[in-house]
Amino acid sequence: MPESMRERLPGLANRFDTFVFDLDGVVYRGNQPLPRAIEVLNLLRDSGRQVFFLTNNSGATRQQYAEKLLSMGIEAQPEQFITSAWATALYLQRALDRGARLFVVGEPGLKQELRAGGFEVVESVEPEIPAAVVVGIDRNFNYERLAQAQYAILNGARFIATNADATYPAEDRLLPGAGAIVAAIATATGHKPRIIGKPNPQILQPYIERGQIRPEQTLLVGDRLDTDIALANLLHIPCALVLTGVSTREDVACAPLEQLPQWVLNNLADLLGDAVDKLLIHSG
Ligand SMILES: [Mg+2]
Repeated sequence: MPESMRERLPGLANRFDTFVFDLDGVVYRGNQPLPRAIEVLNLLRDSGRQVFFLTNNSGATRQQYAEKLLSMGIEAQPEQFITSAWATALYLQRALDRGARLFVVGEPGLKQELRAGGFEVVESVEPEIPAAVVVGIDRNFNYERLAQAQYAILNGARFIATNADATYPAEDRLLPGAGAIVAAIATATGHKPRIIGKPNPQILQPYIERGQIRPEQTLLVGDRLDTDIALANLLHIPCALVLTGVSTREDVACAPLEQLPQWVLNNLADLLGDAVDKLLIHSG
């Protein structure tokens, strides 16, 4: 978008023409939108900014995420969502044959994205070992699924993880994330997974290569230092940590250099305020 078509915005927001927002802990917790998120996201859109949503949560399809935001009053198209499930399907299209069989430890949204990517999702690893075991968040994970995943990987299936987040922020507490399930399978097999989601730069690289995201004109906003902020720093995208999710101000104080955000926000409304400069840690 040429600068002339952008409306002026107050505060930090005015410096960027593209925004990449994480979802869990940034836009909402569970089904509860976070303070000022709806108003800020709609204002960015109305002022001509390009907005993407980037999530490691593989539990829903891009269409389902668009519907969830719409139900909260945020208009968004499926193409604006960059999810680890969708990125995993893209990765497997390059790594495996079309129609390859996958055993999925994950939720319906992940299975749907993989089927849409041209793969067969199987419910049993016998008698034919699947080409890969794909692991994401699975709130119905159990010992039997663990045993099937173990058997397939020990017999040659590739071990692919949508992400390795240890936790994710629900409405009133932290819950175990996909990383806890990935760790169970890694322990049972002695194999390490290929991890697709943040902080793996592969999840955003196609957008940068196509020129849809220009790092220097983009602000990435996330709630986790070890995924969101680490990814932004790897790709030289300016980034802000928002304190409505997992990482805290104390975490920032002892974070390694590669996980330090340029800005720390109390909530998304700080993007529009002057107070944000007082929170500046170091300038990009
Ligand atoms: Mg998050």
